[in-house]
Amino acid sequence: MTILLSPGPVNLSERVRNAMLKPDLCHREVEFSMLQNGIRKKLLDIYALNPDDWAAVLLTGSGTSAMEAMLTSLMPAQAKLLIIENGVYGERLSRIADIYNIDHLSLHHAWGELINVAELEQSLSDGVTHVAVVQHETTSGRLNDIAQIAGICTQKNIPLLVDAVSSFAAEQINFHDWNIIACAATANKCLHGVPGTSFVISRRDAIKQAAHVQRSLYLHLATYLKQQDAGSTPFTQSVQAFYALDEALNEHSNDGGWQARHKQYRQKMTIVRNGLQALGIRALLAEADSSCVLNAFHLPEGISYQTLHDGLKERGFVIYAGQGGFARTLFRISVMGAVTEQDLQRFLVAVEQILSVKRGA
Ligand SMILES: *Cc1c(COP(=O)(O)O)cnc(C)c1O
Repeated sequence: MTILLSPGPVNLSERVRNAMLKPDLCHREVEFSMLQNGIRKKLLDIYALNPDDWAAVLLTGSGTSAMEAMLTSLMPAQAKLLIIENGVYGERLSRIADIYNIDHLSLHHAWGELINVAELEQSLSDGVTHVAVVQHETTSGRLNDIAQIAGICTQKNIPLLVDAVSSFAAEQINFHDWNIIACAATANKCLHGVPGTSFVISRRDAIKQAAHVQRSLYLHLATYLKQQDAGSTPFTQSVQAFYALDEALNEHSNDGGWQARHKQYRQKMTIVRNGLQALGIRALLAEADSSCVLNAFHLPEGISYQTLHDGLKERGFVIYAGQGGFARTLFRISVMGAVTEQDLQRFLVAVEQILSVKRGA
């Protein structure tokens, strides 16, 4: 089987794959309500969130649908949003705000750059009511320091909206200390489910406070919350993807929760970083600035992304290109999914083979 080192979809474990073979199910039946209730509870349990104050709202769509639902459903009419950009996904948040005419400012940084907190502090004086930021910028592998950003925002009592699509369930998220009112995430990244289901975890009061502005028919969280609390769903859900997510959540919990997943990813990423370094391939960022989930690496000299990608694919591994301007200089490796340390050792051997063929030629 091909090993996916891409940041979602991920390789499935057998138990998650088999979960999709459960009986066909109508989303208007009680069995579906139970499945949905269970998933919503298990998602909150990952970060020990109290269901009286917090809700997980389940959507059928990829991670971007959760980002879009979060921004369009949680900005009250008078809100002014500051969006921090240092990669593709921060810029995507700004694009969503543009499209829906949500009053916003963008604090721009080049891709991969460290967020400038002095500039952030200055930007907040402009009547900003909310801040949106990506925790793990998958563009570069940078793990943005949400604790530091939150430290500045909470002084001004400004809450955070977090794109945690590629960090939820594997990185630390201190919802309370960091004054987070919502985060967007997906089933098919650090949770190891299948694509098709995403979710927003939000404070219930934040959904209520913004419920008067409906900007979208399909992505309005207040509509979902009301119906999901009643065991129902406004629209057809991806039932088989729910089966897979439910089993993936059981597996995540059995494995020891987000802390254990974090540790496993870190160990695997260390194998990749050390192994590539031994082959002369440098990481873009220091380990301390990087997520445990995905890291970016400079392409080895004289080898194009296409050559590396195709050589690895022939040997059973799918790597991921850099986006935009990074495409010619970088490649990315994610350790999410049912990937073992042995798989990663075999991957390193494959990289070495490709390098020696190229360099020997
Ligand atoms: C993967 C990802 C998304 C969502 O991408 P989809 O293709 O819509 O699933 C959003 N934000 C970040 C940080 C991501 O890594």
